[in-house]
Amino acid sequence: MTGIVYFVGAGPGAPDLLTLRATRILARADVVFHDALVHPETLALATRAKLVDVGKRAGRISTAQGFINRRMVHAAQRFKIIVRLKGGDPLLFGRAQEEIEALVRAGIAYEIVPGITAALAAAAELGVSLTRRGASRTVTFATPRVGTGERAGDWASATASADTTVLYMGVGEVEEVSRCLMEQGRSGATPVAIVENASLPEARAWFGTLAELTRLAPPDLRGPATILLGEVLRERLSSAGFSGTPRARVASGRD
Ligand code: SAH
Repeated sequence: MTGIVYFVGAGPGAPDLLTLRATRILARADVVFHDALVHPETLALATRAKLVDVGKRAGRISTAQGFINRRMVHAAQRFKIIVRLKGGDPLLFGRAQEEIEALVRAGIAYEIVPGITAALAAAAELGVSLTRRGASRTVTFATPRVGTGERAGDWASATASADTTVLYMGVGEVEEVSRCLMEQGRSGATPVAIVENASLPEARAWFGTLAELTRLAPPDLRGPATILLGEVLRERLSSAGFSGTPRARVASGRD
């Protein structure tokens, strides 16, 4: 028997931002391989499945990619419905292609179920349109995180021509991020925001300028966070009354 592997987007955090299709597939799953940040309520939807945590978080113990690939192939040879549950959208910054290739090599069928990516949840949290008319017609999703064989600053040149940029996996290296962006010609006065835990009740956001980016996030920032950059944030910058001191703002109307 060979099963099918569904790459399912778990969304940005809030369990009710899952798609109906994801919910239905989880209910039928035999095995679920999931990331570290998936909400317990989402995992609870997989009532009949064996849950396997293969989460990787920066600086913590990680499950090697090759090992995850082998386990998925192995499971697909024994079970019918296997879910690879990934945060946000499964195809953005999640190394899904390597997993897909492993399945293709083993002759195993797969399907992708998209999810709401962190950038969109962060924009929603701020109430800021990433393509606000008159200010932005282009958006880049980028990460300063370097894979093997990639040059360190490449991401920054790719963002230089976009009106709005959303950076994934960047809050751990804000010095490098602001230096690279300013080297690429971004003005230090460019509005930026950091959004932590977008879509969750504990969401927080900070606003400032690119020159202030390194001082923006407090040391207790622990949750996943994205950095947003661009003129679309300018009004938010002034209305938040940022005055050089990072200040938390509960941004979603739940306060
Ligand atoms: N596939 C995921 C991204 C995986 S990379 C997606 O589409 O969203 C992990 C990075 O996503 C984190 O380092 C952080 O930058 C961002 N992220 C994930 N969840 C987030 C959240 N709830 N709020 C803010 N950023 C988040």
